[in-house]
Amino acid sequence: MNQQSSSILRVAVDTPLHRSFDYLPPMDVDWDRIQIGQRVRVPFRNKIITGMLMSIEQETSVPKNKLKQAEEVIIETPIWTPSLTKLLQFVQDYYHQPVGEVMMGLMPKWLREGRPQVMPKQRAGKGAKVAVNQRLKVVELNQEQQQASARIKEDLEHFHGYLIQGVTGSGKTEVYMDVVEAVLARGKQALILVPEIGLTPQTLDRFQQRFNEPAVLLHSGLSHGQRLRAWMQAKTASIVVGTRSAIFTPMDKLGLIIVDEEHDMSFKQQDSLRYSARDLSIVRGNLENIPVILGSATPSLESLHNAQRERYELLHLSRRASNAQPPAMNILDIRDAQLEEGLSASLLEGIQRHLSRQGQILLFINRRGYAPCLICHSCGYLAECRRCDVKLTLHSQSNRLHCHQCDKIYPLQKHCPRCGGEKLIPLGAGTERIEQALRRHFPCEGVLRIDADSTRTKGSMEEYLQTIRDGRANILIGTQMMAKGHDFPNLTLVAILDADYGLFSADFRAIERFGQIIVQVAGRAGRAEKPGEVIIQTRHPDYPLLQTLTQKGYSAFAKQILQEREQASLPPYLYMALIRAEAFDEQLPQQFLQQVKGLAQDHGLQPLNIMGPITAPMARRAGRHRAQLLIRTTERGQLQQSLKPLTRALENMKESRKVRWSLDVDPMDMM
Ligand code: ADP
Ligand code: ZN
Repeated sequence: MNQQSSSILRVAVDTPLHRSFDYLPPMDVDWDRIQIGQRVRVPFRNKIITGMLMSIEQETSVPKNKLKQAEEVIIETPIWTPSLTKLLQFVQDYYHQPVGEVMMGLMPKWLREGRPQVMPKQRAGKGAKVAVNQRLKVVELNQEQQQASARIKEDLEHFHGYLIQGVTGSGKTEVYMDVVEAVLARGKQALILVPEIGLTPQTLDRFQQRFNEPAVLLHSGLSHGQRLRAWMQAKTASIVVGTRSAIFTPMDKLGLIIVDEEHDMSFKQQDSLRYSARDLSIVRGNLENIPVILGSATPSLESLHNAQRERYELLHLSRRASNAQPPAMNILDIRDAQLEEGLSASLLEGIQRHLSRQGQILLFINRRGYAPCLICHSCGYLAECRRCDVKLTLHSQSNRLHCHQCDKIYPLQKHCPRCGGEKLIPLGAGTERIEQALRRHFPCEGVLRIDADSTRTKGSMEEYLQTIRDGRANILIGTQMMAKGHDFPNLTLVAILDADYGLFSADFRAIERFGQIIVQVAGRAGRAEKPGEVIIQTRHPDYPLLQTLTQKGYSAFAKQILQEREQASLPPYLYMALIRAEAFDEQLPQQFLQQVKGLAQDHGLQPLNIMGPITAPMARRAGRHRAQLLIRTTERGQLQQSLKPLTRALENMKESRKVRWSLDVDPMDMM
């Protein structure tokens, strides 16, 4: 690069500001070897930190005598490939995220700290590759699978978006692998995104066995060293399997992106940099000009809508690959039933029936702990977190009360703090309580509870899965982590213990998620020869959407909700951004957002486009009071145009330093 000593280095550093910083070049700079995108060591707030060279300028608004000098430009291959640089630019523009947080924050920590881009040595035994003993017999695709795969393989050289809607067990993964094979045969790479760390080894195994070569695994459970190593290997690996953030992995010859279980909420990052890896997979596919496959048994309404608008091509897999019948769905009316710890007599009979036929049973309840609240029998006092507006959950293992919002743990009191009453009663049932009840009812059976508490230690999930496959536990109690991806051939009964919990919620997306979870959990039943049954306990057996779901299936259910969303002007028919604010002071968040509202109107938004400020559905969390302002427009462009100047203006408001605020474009939860 031919530059003079008067040139200025413009550097992005990892701060929440929407701007870069100018520096004088280091003394001994070698202009010939400097490239945009290299890392630079610069003084920043009395520290030397690592930033990224964004451009070389001849002019700066900073007075020359105020300019600091960069310490070093790290001569290296730029960390971000050209197409990733464009993707990160998109992230800045679309999600209105600060340049430095994006350019620096999305690389492995060791690189962010300035360490060199070399393969760190691997400690023996740790993170070793999975042994590939035998290559699995490749299954012969059935007609539907073949059609789907052939359609995608028709053109692997351009961007196309595909949505594979395949019932659980229909063999989506086999279709993915068939397409991946064609991509690898062209000397290109495949990136596969999965929702959960728990599912990555399983997916990885299948791909490794099929292709007989190591795939690279990327997820948040890796140490910093492992992450850097995997990241470097990914550049040239054939197959990379990862969770959400893997969408930002540089790959030299990327030829295909697959997003499995695309409906899953975990593809959306809910804090700091709020992006959707699913949506970004489409953007990246466009930038790299390669096909993108989104797959699910229960596609998100956003993706179905995109398929309706012919943005994606919809491919159906309507039958289970093994020819197993879909499970029978039975609604169990519990309006007048005597429940014992959330279990009705009919359900207990059902469990007995399946056990006596050597079937396994999964009871699904999305509530961990023993009981979701503790109530005083005398005065009705309910134990609440002192710092959050939530009831405390009683955990029998710790014999304490836990706040599931801020994780604070309280001792279990003997007396009611309000009236001194001695009878404090656990109300409702969570996984622990159900587990105890089932152990009482079926003392000779292995009972296994699988939730965030029981799987906290590393490797425990794998152990549990093995226990289930070996038939050492036949009664399983699980939260939504059991709804995903696992395959248990002997599972014949799935029971949804509390369907009503999902039916009525302030969040307009709750019903969609409820349907997805029911179908996904139900999909665990009867995957092999034994027919499956699903029992849904509810006090609202006639609820129309529940009827549609159980009688007509997910597509009809989704269609009905899409119509409702259109009538109510809700996403995906409307574009939203949520500005959240929180502070220890009760008034500040509302006052701040009121000012933001004024600014938003200055930047072209109509009162009609702005809702609030209102108190957040969870009004207080970890001691902070919370409020929110919702911006909604019928056109994405309008939203984007107004948000850009708005975020800049917000940054300069002095009030913005007194509250914690964030902008969430396309928010997935309205809390
Ligand atoms: P999905 O990803 O849709 O849940 P999988 O790809 O995991 O489905 O397939 C479910 C099961 O069916 C797996 O055990 C898989 O090996 C098997 N399978 C898939 N396709 C076929 C096929 N064409 N013939 C026989 N078995 C198949
Ligand atoms: Zn709390």
